Amino acid sequence: MFRNKLVGLKENLNSFKKLYPEYKDYLFFIEEALYLQAHQMNPQEEDLANHLSQAGGEAWSRLHSTLASTISEIWDEKTGETKTVNQLRALAFHADRNIRQKAWKQELTAWKKFEIPLAYALNGVKGFTNELDQRRKYPSTIDRSLFQTRISRKTLDALISTLYDARKLLQRYLKGKAKLLGLQSLSFYDIFAPAIRNAKEWQFSDAKDFIIHQFNNFSPELGKFAGHAFQNQWIDAEPRQGKMGGAFCESFPLSGDSRILCNFDGSFSAVSTIAHELGHAYHHHILKDSSHIKRDYPLTLAETASIFCETLIFQNAMKEVDGEEKLNIIEVFLSESTQVIVDILSRFIFESKIIEKRKNNELTPEEFCSLMIDAQKETYGTALNEEELHPYMWAVKGHYYQQDSAFYNYPYAFGQLFGISLYQQYIQEGQSFISKYDQILQKTGMSTAVDIIKEVGFNIEEKSFWQSSIEVIRSNVEAFEKLVG
Ligand SMILES: [Zn+2]
Repeated sequence: MFRNKLVGLKENLNSFKKLYPEYKDYLFFIEEALYLQAHQMNPQEEDLANHLSQAGGEAWSRLHSTLASTISEIWDEKTGETKTVNQLRALAFHADRNIRQKAWKQELTAWKKFEIPLAYALNGVKGFTNELDQRRKYPSTIDRSLFQTRISRKTLDALISTLYDARKLLQRYLKGKAKLLGLQSLSFYDIFAPAIRNAKEWQFSDAKDFIIHQFNNFSPELGKFAGHAFQNQWIDAEPRQGKMGGAFCESFPLSGDSRILCNFDGSFSAVSTIAHELGHAYHHHILKDSSHIKRDYPLTLAETASIFCETLIFQNAMKEVDGEEKLNIIEVFLSESTQVIVDILSRFIFESKIIEKRKNNELTPEEFCSLMIDAQKETYGTALNEEELHPYMWAVKGHYYQQDSAFYNYPYAFGQLFGISLYQQYIQEGQSFISKYDQILQKTGMSTAVDIIKEVGFNIEEKSFWQSSIEVIRSNVEAFEKLVG
């Protein structure tokens, strides 16, 4: 209703700009509202679509998440112990290959039993959104996604093409990892296998000192902020019974404070997670005096500060260690890069295909599996054993089932490479970069990603921009290969 009202006032927009220059920061919001209005059906149809999405579009995602959280298999025949698919997936990090393989096999068996309702759910949600996208006159689902992530088609093409080229580099890392584990080649269930047995154990207080010290070296403002967060116990780090897994940062707009949940287990990766979440908290700190509308940043820019802080910690930790520990830290970094570059590329290819195919007909579970396998072969290449991939990744990832967020994954690849690339710029530029960094964070909610980044002198529509972060990954792949021997 607001947008329909707004479009009636559209011809006054130019005089509004002249009469009220103090509102110029809100023009972007108005323009986006007008774009969305152009992609609205008439009010009765929008009302119907809204109501049907409760019983239709969104219901598919609820079906998926209910199934995914309850499906289980018998793990131990003797005791009758069962494991849910989530528990089975967590065993991918186990040091014993037999356990990883058993968990992977059982997980596939579990998904197979429920492939029919899952396939109906996926057909349902993609059919639903295809119809609505068409009626709302979006040229394609990807165009709707690009609007949401505030990047141009040219940017997406440059990014995807960079990922496509970089997959070869990460295949080299996976081959090196196979060698390290004494295998001919990795299977899907080896991707997350621990690289070394006795990694250094970090104390929480060491992690704190290290992070504050490294943040301080970058900018006193960031260092002071991290010190404040630790000092005031913003971080709930200890794992305990009844606490959820994973990590996230929650920001409170009225107080301007943030709180972080993580599960610190003494690994380097857990140190890096704290830095990551503190990055999110710092982003919020920079935005805390902006109005709500100007704080609404897209998924592509949401990970800018977090990845930057993570990269800062990683690069500096590397300087201080050698031997096994160095191998461990590089491996953590490359393992994450593989997820973000290779696996996300496979998801992008898969989702593009199913959205297109769903326009003509529903797909069978076998078709979903075979498209997933094709996407994995195309991206992982010969680095993974082709006989032991994961045909049911379409059942694993809940994002495919969400009505409003098709192509949920590429913004994370954007965020990762963008964060690394900013770090590269910092290394080249030194101190003068710091104000640019804060400026980017300050503006994340106020314009398109392309324009915000152009203002500080970088062009994300060019492949060369993305290539600079691939160079960081390349040097680490080379170092990894050298350590593996
Ligand atoms: Zn994050």
